[in-house]
Amino acid sequence: MLVLLRSPSVLQPVGALAASWPLIGTVLPVSPQAVPVPPGDAPFFTAPPTSVAPDPDAPTPADRAAGIQRRTVAQTGSGEFDVVPGSVPPPGRGEVHIVRVEVERGLPVDGERFAGFALATLNDDRSWGHDGAMTFARTDGDAEIVVVLASPDTSALLCDDRGSRGMLSCRNGPRVVLTFRRWVDATDEYADNVTAYRQYVVNHEVGHALGRGHERCPGPGRLAPAMQQQTLGLKGCAQNPWPYPADPPAPAP
Ligand SMILES: [Zn+2]
Repeated sequence: MLVLLRSPSVLQPVGALAASWPLIGTVLPVSPQAVPVPPGDAPFFTAPPTSVAPDPDAPTPADRAAGIQRRTVAQTGSGEFDVVPGSVPPPGRGEVHIVRVEVERGLPVDGERFAGFALATLNDDRSWGHDGAMTFARTDGDAEIVVVLASPDTSALLCDDRGSRGMLSCRNGPRVVLTFRRWVDATDEYADNVTAYRQYVVNHEVGHALGRGHERCPGPGRLAPAMQQQTLGLKGCAQNPWPYPADPPAPAP
């Protein structure tokens, strides 16, 4: 009884297929098992390629270069910091600024890589040391500028930011506080270039530590100044992480 009931329901789709697709109506449907598999080839139907869903927590190469080991951002951190050990001499000319780098304990971050990214940004010729104006050394001792990477809640605490729950980075005294939330996710306007956002936020907050104030977008389509609050929106300007971009904006007509 059971077999008799099942047989028509198996055959029915085959007939329906032939009827609804007249061009191949005379072609017998081929069952998957009947497809010949050449010797040595992977059998297509019996071993389909396993599709692995992308892991949203896995870092991209750009993330890894910025020290990110996992993209998970926990709102709250330990509140304790590890100083990135070692020291790196200033690579350039001009006034030497000494930087210490700290990472909140428990963040999925490679401190050496994070410090390397921050110092490489600051020592880029498009940054504050343009044309030999200044150069940045790294230490694990006393420093003029302390670059801190912190969880959102700890960032908010260190920035005295009571509104955004750690969506904003800041400079507070000698501390340049970068929130891990933005370090990982950047902003919507920088979603296509998170590395540029990371360079921007280092340059911007260290710019404050060097005494620079905010600037406004100079006009639609122009490069956003490094001291523009780009995290709050580009305001019609184009992405630009650098105080001295290689291609300066064309002069206004
Ligand atoms: Zn600012």
